Amino acid sequence: LFAGPIAFLKSAPELKFLPDQDVPEVAFAGRSNVGKSSLLNALTGRNGLARTSNTPGRTQELNFFDVGEPLVLRLVDMPGYGFAKAPKDLLRKWRYLVNDFLRGRAVLKRVLVLVDSRHGLKDVDRELMDMLDKAAVSYRLVLTKADKIKASELADVHRRTTEEARKHPAAHPDVIMTSSEKGMGIPELRAAVLESVTA
Ligand code: GDP
Repeated sequence: LFAGPIAFLKSAPELKFLPDQDVPEVAFAGRSNVGKSSLLNALTGRNGLARTSNTPGRTQELNFFDVGEPLVLRLVDMPGYGFAKAPKDLLRKWRYLVNDFLRGRAVLKRVLVLVDSRHGLKDVDRELMDMLDKAAVSYRLVLTKADKIKASELADVHRRTTEEARKHPAAHPDVIMTSSEKGMGIPELRAAVLESVTA
């Protein structure tokens, strides 16, 4: 799936700039600094595909990447959320953009919700999960930066996150553990992406 060409298509700071719904999409979401860019780069095997922003929360836009020739899949890099010093209107903008996107996107097959292994689920993540449940968009939790904590702590956060996922109607019952740094969980993540577009 990721062996062929992958190209940045466009950025959409507002819904009117969204690409046509002509191909299945899989989106990536998470708190800012969760490791989303690193994971997208590891997933696609392209360094520098998704650029890490130095000013968290500044990029309130959806970024689209076309995968395959012919086109088989579109990856969507959703704006990060939950950064500490976010002004209220930025949060409001994020909420509108994301909610409208989730509700109007028939081609959106799945959202991968990234969660930092060190922190586990936060209330802002739960807010997104509720939005996804209400929009009936299927999603899956993915723990990031698994190399940063001890195996016992990882097992613990995995268990807690899985328990919580299973209470959400639109959430996949299993949680993937990843480390972009160590390449851990990347094959599973690729399989999850593939499964969401072929299912
Ligand atoms: P984003 O803001 O969600 O796109 O996060 P980035 O991908 O820019 O990552 C934020 C920071 O976490 C960077 O300093 C990365 O080097 C670091 N990071 C990302 N993934 C991993 C990982 O798997 N392991 C470790 N140790 N650090 C990571």
